[in-house]
Amino acid sequence: NLHTQLEKIGSTPEVFYGSPEDIFKTLLEKYQIAKVFTNDDYEPYAIKRDKAIRALLKRRDATLEAYKDQVIFHKDEILKDDGKPFVVFTPYSRQWKNKLEDFFIKEYPVKKYFKNFFKQSPASIPTLQSMGFSSSDQHIPKRDIPEDVIKAYSATRDFPGLEGTTRMGIHLRFGTVSIRKLATEALALNKTYLNELIWRDFYHMILWHFPHVGEHKAFKPAYDTIPWRNNEDEFKKWCSGQTGYPIVDAGLRQLAATGFMHNRVRMVTASFLSKHLLIDWRWGEAYFAEKLLDFDLAANNGGWQWAVGSGNDAAPYFRIFNPYLQAKRFDKDNVYIKKWVPEFDSDQYAEPIVKHDFARKRCLEVFGKALNENR
Ligand code: FAD
Repeated sequence: NLHTQLEKIGSTPEVFYGSPEDIFKTLLEKYQIAKVFTNDDYEPYAIKRDKAIRALLKRRDATLEAYKDQVIFHKDEILKDDGKPFVVFTPYSRQWKNKLEDFFIKEYPVKKYFKNFFKQSPASIPTLQSMGFSSSDQHIPKRDIPEDVIKAYSATRDFPGLEGTTRMGIHLRFGTVSIRKLATEALALNKTYLNELIWRDFYHMILWHFPHVGEHKAFKPAYDTIPWRNNEDEFKKWCSGQTGYPIVDAGLRQLAATGFMHNRVRMVTASFLSKHLLIDWRWGEAYFAEKLLDFDLAANNGGWQWAVGSGNDAAPYFRIFNPYLQAKRFDKDNVYIKKWVPEFDSDQYAEPIVKHDFARKRCLEVFGKALNENR
């Protein structure tokens, strides 16, 4: 799309695949470069990459200029009165909403800059195959913003058996839908939906100010002292949706088959792995990272740490989801479960990997002991 648009004005994107430092060295040989423009990215890899490129450019008397694009408010725009970052969501979201003005969500007038684009003949783009990708039959949600879903969101968002969420995650992750556009829709159509977009900003802000979470350490250090059982066989059963808990298995089977899992079920499966099975949440975090099409380090890490209790504004450790009650409440006619675990009420279905009451008690003891000793 970009290629076609730029071609019309006699320009072209040049697309490279390889080590960013090597590519910038080549570009610096080929062109006279004074400034490089990019957008901020708070993930540890990106910070390291941009630091190296900035240093390389500096050696050639050029600069790297980074701007905000991925969030509505960047790392330092919403801070407490004392200038420190928020660690609790509600006051953060209050200030976020108070500060929101049209300026932050309006479209940028880029067309007027078209005349400044560097003119050159069309360059080819490396093929996906040449980068080692192969095609997949997983469904990619459309880029069109589903207004009907946003309108009904408050009533439908928690029910995994409905198509009640917008599936915009993948587009936000890859930048194929603008967060400003989505926030504009949310403001007009549904405040609950806006709140979820604020959670996204919040986790990005946390990743920047507390980079230890990006290195997969618990936000609250005491949680790193929990003696996880880490039973590999149980982990495999969790990954493949064979735990004998229908809602958990449905979620993990949905994830493996489609690269998506409903938010409610992400919470239940994450809680189940870390609390029922006492498996280090980082194993689950890495598995989600591998499988989710909308994988986003800040939101994935934030979601996992929320479920475990180790996060900045997390559910306390002693609140343990009961997967049966969750299913009863959010999938009462078993629509979701039947879709992904058709054998769930037959002899063919696995026995529960662990009994709920036993697992709950064990979790309270193990978490309680570690956290009390390391307060
Ligand atoms: P919708 O419900 O339609 O929400 C719209 C958008 O709001 C989402 O696309 C997302 O960008 C944002 N959003 C919604 N809920 C949250 C939330 N709780 N935290 C942060 N942003 C939110 N989200 C990701 O984008 N990438 C992840 O890797 C990711 N991993 C998660 C892991 C766990 C354990 C948990 C509990 C949650 C995770 N989430 C993640 C948050 C949430 O589950 C997904 O954003 C949502 O399910 C994506 O589906 P959707 O686009 O239909 O969302």
